[in-house]
Amino acid sequence: MSRQGILFVISAPSGAGKTSLCRAIIDFFPDLRQSISFTTRPIRGGEQDGVDYHFVSRPSFEAMVAEGAFAEWAEVHGNLYGTALATLESCRDQGLDVLLDIDCQGAAQLRRSYSGGVFIFVLPPSLEELRRRLEGRQTDRPEVIERRIANARTEIDAAVDYDYLIINQVFPQAVENLKAIMLAERSRTARVLPTLPQLFSL
Ligand code: 5GP
Repeated sequence: MSRQGILFVISAPSGAGKTSLCRAIIDFFPDLRQSISFTTRPIRGGEQDGVDYHFVSRPSFEAMVAEGAFAEWAEVHGNLYGTALATLESCRDQGLDVLLDIDCQGAAQLRRSYSGGVFIFVLPPSLEELRRRLEGRQTDRPEVIERRIANARTEIDAAVDYDYLIINQVFPQAVENLKAIMLAERSRTARVLPTLPQLFSL
């Protein structure tokens, strides 16, 4: 029996460096896939449809909700975002781990339905640093940045429900922390035990 894929869920206030962390980690584990979410958010410069997100209209997204196509979905900063059930099932069937970069509301939904999931929260070193990073990205209007910072305060309150917290002060160190978490989770007895009969002809 081969190893069952693990669901790794990563949340963070936007600007905490979660997307860069996910990008850095994805190449390190050959059997890890990043889930590509569906969203109604307008595409940003430099983003690609089908790579960063599946960009869809609100009516299309709502039709998917009605069909029960999402494992979780939520409204974040005025736009809809969701993880397709089919994405998670396809990874599980292939024995691949899957990495989800989703908000706290989505993570809370998955915590109820995927008991073996690993929930990781990434924190910025401070709210001042978060503001500096959001302004430095030059992708959002000032009022959007203010909304993101206000949301960050409530999102940080949700950190208590996660299995692991990573403070992203020095980026390479945060990457190492994330790797360590993922490696340790793969070695949990409960995850390795089912593979022993095949390995040792038990
Ligand atoms: P952004 O618009 O900056 O790419 O993402 C905004 C927020 O939406 C981020 O916190 C991101 O994690 C979250 N997000 C992205 N995809 C999903 C998803 O499929 N489900 C949920 N619940 N949140 C998502």
